[in-house]
Amino acid sequence: MKIRGLEAKDSLVMNRREAIGLALGSAAAIPACREPTRKVVPVPPRPTAAVRREGEDLVPVRVEPNLEIRTIAGLRPYRPSGFVVRREDTAGKTLVHHYGHGGGGFSLSWGTSQLAVKMITQPLSGLDCAVVGAGVMGLSTARLLQLQGARVTIYARDQPPETTSNVAGAQWWPFSVFDNNRRSGAFSAQYVEAAKFSYHYFQQFAGPEWGVRWVPNYYLSAAPPLNGWIGGPGGVLHDLQVGFQDFAPGEHVFSHGYARRFYSMMIEPAVYLRRMMEEFRRSGGSLSVRSFATAGEVLALPQPVIFNCTGLGAGALFGDTELVPIKGQLTFLLPQPEVNYTLISGDLYMFPRSDGILLGGTYETGEWSTTPDLPAKARILEAQRQLFLRMAEIQRSRNKV
Ligand SMILES: Cc1cc2nc3c(=O)[nH]c(=O)nc-3n(C[C@H](O)[C@H](O)[C@H](O)COP(=O)(O)OP(=O)(O)OC[C@H]3O[C@@H](n4cnc5c(N)ncnc54)[C@H](O)[C@@H]3O)c2cc1C
Repeated sequence: MKIRGLEAKDSLVMNRREAIGLALGSAAAIPACREPTRKVVPVPPRPTAAVRREGEDLVPVRVEPNLEIRTIAGLRPYRPSGFVVRREDTAGKTLVHHYGHGGGGFSLSWGTSQLAVKMITQPLSGLDCAVVGAGVMGLSTARLLQLQGARVTIYARDQPPETTSNVAGAQWWPFSVFDNNRRSGAFSAQYVEAAKFSYHYFQQFAGPEWGVRWVPNYYLSAAPPLNGWIGGPGGVLHDLQVGFQDFAPGEHVFSHGYARRFYSMMIEPAVYLRRMMEEFRRSGGSLSVRSFATAGEVLALPQPVIFNCTGLGAGALFGDTELVPIKGQLTFLLPQPEVNYTLISGDLYMFPRSDGILLGGTYETGEWSTTPDLPAKARILEAQRQLFLRMAEIQRSRNKV
């Protein structure tokens, strides 16, 4: 099994891994739950009782086997050189490719959809458009087209709740989207523009009706957090890391290492995609359930303008051999509404959602099976259990000071 970071998806991920996982010398090790095997920095003195520790008021997750409600897996549509947003004029049609967003597709959805729609230079009002795919990319593209007056038909084999998009976490933070060593200048510009547009656009949906809300995210590491191309001071998206702060050992309750905090949006895919579909239909959109076997079949659609939002399906359909799956597995516990933060430690992550406490995760590159891996589940649950037991222990010892 390959886990995230071995391919250096981006410098932030690599930094996280260097800081946490690789320091332990084993890909299978569970970073946050063990003492580091090498001392990275001197540990500052324990704070006095008067100093407040970050996270004192947060409720640790109860990770107990009898609280499990489901375990699922999905395939991230990953391209090492990044997503594709590209126009092609062929067979008398305008075809806009829009796919390959890896583990950050939810976050980027409005932004790359905006880039895709901007590739049509003729007036959109009254224009007949086809969108192939009904995941978050297809739906966002379709909505932006409708908002500019286009008549849109979606063609898709699967629709919510049966798309990969429904499996997403979905934390707003576009990482695991590309390999930093393969990032071109042109892609970098698209990535930054899309991320910033999407970040602002998503904020309109904050609230229970769309399943979008703001939460603090805590990233744990044994060594001081490093800054990458994306995040941390100097990163291209650092201005989107609202409420950013690093905490040294002893300044927070999560572990005996370091913690980095910033706020971002948490999106509930089940709620959000259902609403997107409702809005699409309410605005006159129609959906045709259809599976395409070849690019020729797609180009034979009656509309003059076609958007290819087929996610992982684009590989076989349009011969993109760079597109690979990265399997991700998630276990859900009964909802714990009192938990209102995310916790990320190496490859482990916890997202609090109204449909359950989501515990991840795995990153298996090239794995096409979506069958849950039970030993991986047991390993993740035990590591998460240890993580929250340690948090509770630090909170308790803090109360005794
Ligand atoms: C475990 C996991 C966790 C994730 N967590 C996050 C996260 O926290 N934050 C984040 O931003 N992103 C996250 N993602 C990534 C995100 O889910 C994806 O990048 C995004 O959903 C991709 O959307 P899409 O619309 O391109 O693809 P999909 O949702 O797969 O939709 C593709 C559509 O195309 C259709 N299609 C494909 N081939 C054909 C064909 N031949 N004929 C007809 N129709 C076809 C499908 O039926 C479907 O309707 C996560 C993904 C996984 C798996």
